[in-house]
Amino acid sequence: MAWDFQTDPEYQEKLDWVEQFVREEVEPADRMYAHPLDMTDPVRNALIRPLQAQVREKELWACHLGPELGGPGYGQLKLALLNELIGTTLSGPVVFGTQAPDSGNAETLAHFGSPELKERYLKPLLEGEIASCFSMTEPTGGSDPTGFQCRAVRDGDHYVINGEKWFSSNARFASFLVLMAVTDPDAERHRRASMFIVPADTPGIEIVRNVGVTGHAGHEGTHAYVRYTDVRIPADHLLGEEGDGFKVAQVRLGGGRIHHAMRTVALVRRSLELMLERAVSRETRGKRLGDLQMVQDMIAESWVQLEQFRLFVLRTAWKIDQVKDYKLVIKDIAGVKVAMPKVLHDVASRALQLHGSLGISTEMPFGKFVLESFHMAIADGATELHKQQVAKQLLRGVEPAPDLFPSAHALRLDEQARAKYADVLAAVQADHAALMGA
Ligand SMILES: Cc1cc2nc3c(=O)[nH]c(=O)nc-3n(C[C@H](O)[C@H](O)[C@H](O)COP(=O)(O)OP(=O)(O)OC[C@H]3O[C@@H](n4cnc5c(N)ncnc54)[C@H](O)[C@@H]3O)c2cc1C
Repeated sequence: MAWDFQTDPEYQEKLDWVEQFVREEVEPADRMYAHPLDMTDPVRNALIRPLQAQVREKELWACHLGPELGGPGYGQLKLALLNELIGTTLSGPVVFGTQAPDSGNAETLAHFGSPELKERYLKPLLEGEIASCFSMTEPTGGSDPTGFQCRAVRDGDHYVINGEKWFSSNARFASFLVLMAVTDPDAERHRRASMFIVPADTPGIEIVRNVGVTGHAGHEGTHAYVRYTDVRIPADHLLGEEGDGFKVAQVRLGGGRIHHAMRTVALVRRSLELMLERAVSRETRGKRLGDLQMVQDMIAESWVQLEQFRLFVLRTAWKIDQVKDYKLVIKDIAGVKVAMPKVLHDVASRALQLHGSLGISTEMPFGKFVLESFHMAIADGATELHKQQVAKQLLRGVEPAPDLFPSAHALRLDEQARAKYADVLAAVQADHAALMGA
């Protein structure tokens, strides 16, 4: 029976190396540059490239991908264990070749790109030589993609794109954008849009502004408001078939969601570790914080939430490895997506609280972690939509009660039990009657 919660010793050895490498190399490097994908920054390049080389040497580069994509084929469960270690760092995902949105875009290209597109964009992306962007959300709202307005019109051997996109993360570092645009406004709602590769240097692409998010450093943000005006791309830059936009997006977003969750485990775990350290370091009225029952409640609740969430993430990753299709694990991925912001919010908030004024200061990471929980509740689809998805999946195929009363109604169960054991009852009654008659 396969029901094993242990990591195989060979991979554990690699994880032990990762833990030390992150602490000694990646965390200090993080303090030296503004963005790990800004390849115009010479300090970034001087620090990150040698770290990437070490990761390759250890055969951990893009470890979830198969050999055909330049990885060792470890799959999602092993990626989850890796992400638990690198998820607290800014550049860990870039150093290990697993960063969003590039990892999702790479999977999209691998699934749906032509050989030429793979050669031109996938190869350098997987090598970490270029960055990419996913340009789907529109300024008019992201929660209902069937209402998107950005248009791609076929013109001979080209498509011409006009429209606007919002929160296209990393557009300013990207060599290409994966863009969703309406190709047939009259088609059935989920066949209206298609997905394209748009080279970033195509004339007509304008970054209106780079929007920042609260709590992140730097004046200029990384979430681009992009305007596409008569952007002309070759027709073979279409991913899949015309009308496949939603299908491609599901492959793209399924992976992204679970990868965010894996990294969130790291943030929750860091919050708890710091909470524990604080609880045994700070004294008040002659006692350590950790000796106070209300603090113990915070610690216990946090650990329970972390363990529940972590197991949920690991099992979902394991399921993806079994079926190799995000769509078949959609309920679990949506469930993890729902749980993620709440667990991070709760545990990081308690850690912040236990650190008092220091906790809310910019000298500790908790404020950033709490804000990050809001990112997790919005990016890749708002929590409300994922709750709907979970409920829809759970309700699918459920039979209604046989009559006015539920199937587990006590009177019904009594009646069923009496019917099932009628012979036994009859025999016992007959014995009893015989005994009384004797
Ligand atoms: C950090 C971050 C990075 C992102 N990166 C990218 C990126 O790289 N590329 C990209 O294309 N997009 C990106 N996004 C955008 C993200 O996909 C959208 O923000 C998301 O889909 C929600 O769309 P919206 O912001 O327009 O909110 P809206 O669609 O306007 O929704 C606002 C709120 O309304 C409520 N709501 C909406 N629909 C429902 C419903 N059916 N039932 C109940 N309540 C509902 C929810 O509370 C929701 O948060 C990013 C977002 C964040 C926060």
